[in-house]
Amino acid sequence: MTRVLVVEDDAQLVRALEINLRARKYGVDAAPDGATALRLAAARQPDAIVLDLGLPDMDGIDVLKTLRGWSRVPVLVLSARSASDEKVAALNAGADDYVTKPFSMDELLARLRASVRRRGATSLDADNSVITTQDFTVDLAAKKVTRGGHDVRLTPTEWHLLEILVCNPRRLITQRQLLDEVWGASQSGKTNYLRVYMAQLRRKLEADPSHPRYLITEPGMGYRFEG
Ligand code: CA
Repeated sequence: MTRVLVVEDDAQLVRALEINLRARKYGVDAAPDGATALRLAAARQPDAIVLDLGLPDMDGIDVLKTLRGWSRVPVLVLSARSASDEKVAALNAGADDYVTKPFSMDELLARLRASVRRRGATSLDADNSVITTQDFTVDLAAKKVTRGGHDVRLTPTEWHLLEILVCNPRRLITQRQLLDEVWGASQSGKTNYLRVYMAQLRRKLEADPSHPRYLITEPGMGYRFEG
């Protein structure tokens, strides 16, 4: 799953982006200001960032410059400004592309996809698409799980959950995030779904499903993958 960090102080626009991105199976985090954006970019390691240039606490260009000190994540800039020197400054600071407000959602999604694809083609190597534990192997590109030399059959829902967890090793993924991403926001109260599917995954992957070693429950909060 592709995770996008939306950095924008216009709550209505954030909401529209969240709805559209989630509908296309992106995972979404949102930051209303530059400081939060930098913190979340480090903590969540998004696959792409949509960055508004006009933020309440700092200029989006400065967010971008700081980010580029340690990250090559694709950045799509949102500019309300028609001045072309602003866009040139953004591209010089390391933006991958930009759209000018007001933009159509289709245009933004197309440019976002293109940025992720370009970056993915240059940085994704075979190593990080295969996650290996002592008991099982997850091949993200082939969407295949093997255990003891045999393929493990997973349902699409089990795969989706496992994919989110193994792509975020050692990070707590909240029940809410998992429900939103796998079942959609309308199902966000159904934590019993999660318990059922996590139990199935453990039966298929854990040597001792009642004492899981890889698929860890954080009681009342969510789940975590320990690789
Ligand atoms: Ca703004």
